[in-house]
Amino acid sequence: MATSTVQDLELIRESVRALCDKFPETYWRETDEKDEYPEEFIKALTNEGWLSVLIPEEYGGAGLGMLEAGIILEEINRSGGNSGAGHAQMYTMGAILRHGSEEQKQRYLPKIASGELRLQAFGITEPTAGSDTTSITTTAVKQGDKYIVNGQKIFISRTEHSDLMLLLARTTPKDQVAKKTDGLSLFILDMKDQQDNITIRPIDTMINHATTEVFFENAEIPEENLIGLEGKGFKYVLSGMNAERILVASESLGDGKYFVDRSVQYANERVVFNRPIGQNQGVQFPIAQSYMDIEAATLMRDKAAKLFDAGEKCGAEANMAKYLATESTWKAANAAMTTYGGYGFAKEYNIERKFREARLFIVAPVTNNLVTTYIGQHVLGLPRSF
Ligand SMILES: Cc1cc2nc3c(=O)[nH]c(=O)nc-3n(C[C@H](O)[C@H](O)[C@H](O)COP(=O)(O)OP(=O)(O)OC[C@H]3O[C@@H](n4cnc5c(N)ncnc54)[C@H](O)[C@@H]3O)c2cc1C
Repeated sequence: MATSTVQDLELIRESVRALCDKFPETYWRETDEKDEYPEEFIKALTNEGWLSVLIPEEYGGAGLGMLEAGIILEEINRSGGNSGAGHAQMYTMGAILRHGSEEQKQRYLPKIASGELRLQAFGITEPTAGSDTTSITTTAVKQGDKYIVNGQKIFISRTEHSDLMLLLARTTPKDQVAKKTDGLSLFILDMKDQQDNITIRPIDTMINHATTEVFFENAEIPEENLIGLEGKGFKYVLSGMNAERILVASESLGDGKYFVDRSVQYANERVVFNRPIGQNQGVQFPIAQSYMDIEAATLMRDKAAKLFDAGEKCGAEANMAKYLATESTWKAANAAMTTYGGYGFAKEYNIERKFREARLFIVAPVTNNLVTTYIGQHVLGLPRSF
């Protein structure tokens, strides 16, 4: 993997900003209002190669690291955009890269890198299991040379804009395995090929995230699309979680920096009682405090990304980065609402949209309560709560 210098990182920031300049906030507001997928933006991002930076050069990507990837997503969100529309294309392929066979890597990674294939959907969450992933009940039963999938997933984003789904399903019932984390398997599901056996229903949510319910009725997956070993899928999903948390932290930091930028600008311009509102400590302090928190969270993101890129353990840092970034950004979001007063609610100012979008990261892809239990139990050695 190539190591970027400070100058390289700045160049990445500038280049991503230049692309984002072509997609102003009116673009994001309109897609949000119409609940439309930002197709043109994702195409531009793909064409410039930003979504394939984590794919090694031998498979058609740029072979960059987690820090560079994080900075790309951060800049998108800082510009007022929403990288949630494309972030999964960046990291979901990590399961194939780290645990797939050479044949799977050759078959999928170059096409994912070029954008010919979209691997934008990651199917984990189920209505009856929620955060307790080992309790999922979607099954994949081996029949001859294929697996037959039946069950239901919920909140699976971008399924309508993806060719492939990375799917976690039970291949051995929970009561027949020694450890509850065994018996789950990870698959590459070709959704386009299985349209007759998959029903996708959009879920109307408070943000434009193209999230859906997915029903599988005898959907078929050829055995060569099993990733790694049968029954070990949960381990493979866990190994991708640090990457996901670092990248989500980065997106959230981009939102946080957006709120601070906008709040500073507005607090300097808006004059009430014959003075700029930013002169009042009730307005100034929440902005300054969230700025400090966001800067500190950025250091933790950087640390987590550097450890990840060095191949070192980074579970604690990745979780802390996700927590600190999302909580400090939520503070900044509220500071922005305070700063903008009534205008914070007016759609044309964009704050309300970003406010709604920023709230998601406290909940998905993992809630901050679950992140906190990780720190309590795995880092501090406190008793397990589940
Ligand atoms: C817009 C959106 C997009 C999403 N996209 C995807 C996707 O693409 N793929 C996918 O697989 N999933 C996706 N999700 C699902 C998301 O990952 C889950 O919503 C999230 O992990 C929480 O699961 P849940 O909603 O079932 O909450 P629950 O598990 O029901 O939890 C509800 C609340 O209880 C708390 N809680 C539960 N157990 C404990 C405990 N032991 N200790 C402390 N607190 C606890 C939780 O922290 C939470 O606050 C998405 C969700 C949303 C809203």
